[in-house]
Amino acid sequence: QADERESLYLVSEFAKNYFHNTLLKTEPGKAIGLSYFKERGFTDETIKKFELGYSLDQWEAFTAHAIQKGYKLEYLEKTGLSIVKEEKQFDRFKGRVMFPILSMSGRTLGFGGRILTSDKKAAKYLNSPESDIYHKSKVLYGIYQAKQSIAKEDNCYLVEGYTDVIQFNQTGIHNVVSSSGTALTSEQIRLVNRLTKNITVLFDGDAAGLRASLRGVDLILEQGMNVKICTFPEGEDPDSFAKNNSLEELTIYLEEKAQDFISFKASLLASDAKNDPIKKADTIREIMVSISKIPDVIKREVYIKECSRIMDISEEVLFNSLAQMLQKDK
Ligand code: ATP
Ligand code: MN
Ligand code: MN
Ligand code: MN
Repeated sequence: QADERESLYLVSEFAKNYFHNTLLKTEPGKAIGLSYFKERGFTDETIKKFELGYSLDQWEAFTAHAIQKGYKLEYLEKTGLSIVKEEKQFDRFKGRVMFPILSMSGRTLGFGGRILTSDKKAAKYLNSPESDIYHKSKVLYGIYQAKQSIAKEDNCYLVEGYTDVIQFNQTGIHNVVSSSGTALTSEQIRLVNRLTKNITVLFDGDAAGLRASLRGVDLILEQGMNVKICTFPEGEDPDSFAKNNSLEELTIYLEEKAQDFISFKASLLASDAKNDPIKKADTIREIMVSISKIPDVIKREVYIKECSRIMDISEEVLFNSLAQMLQKDK
């Protein structure tokens, strides 16, 4: 079993290097993949740091090469790099630019691949399937490159996508990781918790997912961590914002905009409910769910006082609501 896992690691490592070389050394790699990354504003240094790659737009260029190099089809299939169908084999990531996903210690676990055409039917990003070495709920994109900086800065920025991580790094902010489109999990947060107790969550400025994403943040509170939230202007994400601003502008924006999570959520809910009494009751419940996740009793009390002010609800009502909630959890 350990041997098999090792084989999966080795073939993934091989694939990472192959895609990276294809991007930098082949004609189609340079003309299509590299020019795409250049257009996004990524420098050679950034492309090397994240070992970005390109998978040729051919049915089995990678798979055939790997087999020729002695890698077993069995492992190519188990990592999802190759798809075997009716005795034919295909490259899963055909025609995509490649983002290798590394473990905390730098082993290659899997890949994200972005499509370059505007084919509406195909997924924009495709990820490696679950395997014995890749569990999407347990990895954070960028953690290997970020870990030292997270510890040093004693804070971690959490973003939505691969390119947000990369563009932040290029701009000069290195303590950043991404859950890459999946809902945040406790296992992912534990990876960060080992390095710092402070997380700043950066949401894309598209509002749509904001309220749903706020739920995932409760998992961070549950681990006793301090959470701040920062949003970006409509239509922008951390990638586009970092691309269009200097390090100084970005730093100032983050410092000024980042707001304590509970206060942020309370203000958002209060403005949602306005003068609607029924909505207001739901709102109290929702904010108290978040506060009830905080393990520290003193912090809870501070937040209740603050929410009472923000939402214009008496502290007594909020304390009662909390007591009920804690009762139910037992
Ligand atoms: P880009 O700037 O390249 O268009 P993005 O990173 O801004 O992409 P978002 O649409 O904001 O993309 O999505 C955030 C993250 O969610 C992506 O980086 C990717 O990890 C994941 N994701 C997005 N679309 C898909 C998809 N169709 N299938 C799987 N994962 C996806
Ligand atoms: Mn988005
Ligand atoms: Mn985005
Ligand atoms: Mn984007």
